[in-house]
Amino acid sequence: MAIETINPYTNKSVKKFDELSDAALENKIAQAEKAFGTWKTTPVKSRAELLHKVAALMLKKKEQLAGLITLEMGKLIAQSVGEIELSASIFEYYAKNAEKFLADKPLEVEEGSAFIRYSPIGIVLGVEPWNYPFYQIARIAAPNIAAGNVIVIKHASSVPQCAQAIQELFDEAGATAGIYTNLFISSKKVAGLAADTRIKGLSLTGSEEAGASLAEASGKNLKKSVLELGGSDPFIVLEDADLEKAVAMAVEGRMGNMGQACTAAKRIIVVEEIADTFLEKFKQQITGLKVGDPADKTTQVGPLSSEGAAQHLDEQVQKSIKEGATLVMGGKRIDREGAFYEPSILTDLKPGMTAYHEELFGPVASFYRVKNEEEAIKLANDSPFGLGGAVFSKNIDRAKKIADQIDTGMVYINEPTTSQPDLPFGGTKRSGYGRELSGLGIEEFVNKKLIRVS
Ligand code: NDP
Repeated sequence: MAIETINPYTNKSVKKFDELSDAALENKIAQAEKAFGTWKTTPVKSRAELLHKVAALMLKKKEQLAGLITLEMGKLIAQSVGEIELSASIFEYYAKNAEKFLADKPLEVEEGSAFIRYSPIGIVLGVEPWNYPFYQIARIAAPNIAAGNVIVIKHASSVPQCAQAIQELFDEAGATAGIYTNLFISSKKVAGLAADTRIKGLSLTGSEEAGASLAEASGKNLKKSVLELGGSDPFIVLEDADLEKAVAMAVEGRMGNMGQACTAAKRIIVVEEIADTFLEKFKQQITGLKVGDPADKTTQVGPLSSEGAAQHLDEQVQKSIKEGATLVMGGKRIDREGAFYEPSILTDLKPGMTAYHEELFGPVASFYRVKNEEEAIKLANDSPFGLGGAVFSKNIDRAKKIADQIDTGMVYINEPTTSQPDLPFGGTKRSGYGRELSGLGIEEFVNKKLIRVS
């Protein structure tokens, strides 16, 4: 893939970037290794100061940075601003809490004393996607830089201006060269980096294929990895739910970011007593939305991230219809220039159909009617993925019992799966392993060293 900005609103190329030569890549890794030499012993308070500065700069430039997200991957501008604010809050969160997270942890032992010391391990490579070009970076960079690691990033080839802007934020915040390094490289170079002895940990957010490839390279080189892959989150609505709220949350959960979120409410599962009413209301709310330029604040439906993404989604939808799924609405490209796709609903989905098993990364809701709670849980778990999920019921004890039986890394009650700095984020099954954010996120790439005093 060329490293290139293509505006998905017009499908026109805006700017191309050159890949790093092998020699330039080697210089950058050597520089990161050198920076680690001093960063690892820099007091956490000073590391936190850098994160504070990055957060402040992000907020100061939020309109400009949000504009880059919208230009490169088509996110509605208000959501782009929201992403910058969320990203800044992640930097702030680790700036404030790192000292507490990294403090020695005493162990209860029968004799003498013992404690765990959290030590940085070195260079961590992040391979990141385009769907949240700032937030994805914040999740890996903030905790690791706070922990004393240094970060090298291979960002998605489609968001180079966002990648460059993040590098500039660190430079402007006064980061020593090598603490944060953007690498303009193709995905083919990742396996080579995994084999480089200076790189100690690898983290990837993206597709199953990319995840499997990174896991293979990490395994071969006996290195720790964290994977945050796809999802097909269940969104369960029970008969005792607040219906209006559940519908509004389903719209937000499925259509936010034009459906291109790993934790989007991809499978809406509603018990039959309220299924028809729910579907009607859901349909009403996603009908007649204003289609247009994502940079225009009044637009409600923008393009997908790329022409390829829109074509792939359409193929999955057409295949599912051929296989017997019912199209409730949408199901086609919007007839205009750009990577647009109609907000859509599929129902009558059965095992064996494409949309039943695959992740639909766009504004297409899969709607399921079930007889009862037991059927809802069974269906929720009948997926190769296990990232997030939601349960809607006014009976919180009942919802908690259901949450307990859902095989995912996160379950939200009475709201769609979201993300905030103080909540761990990650999945199970084919959605990957490891956790980002919260106190758990800072523990992934540190040596939890036992120190025993007898
Ligand atoms: P990819 O997984 O291909 O891209 C994510 C990142 O991984 C990019 O930086 C990409 O680089 C890199 N990459 C791709 N292949 C490899 C590889 N073999 N080894 C190492 N790195 C690799 O996602 P796509 O953009 O192609 O999206 C495809 C699908 O992935 C989506 O439809 C969705 O299902 C899922 N996805 C899930 C995301 C999530 O948040 N969990 C985010 C994005 C996608 P490059 O851009 O240069 O190819």
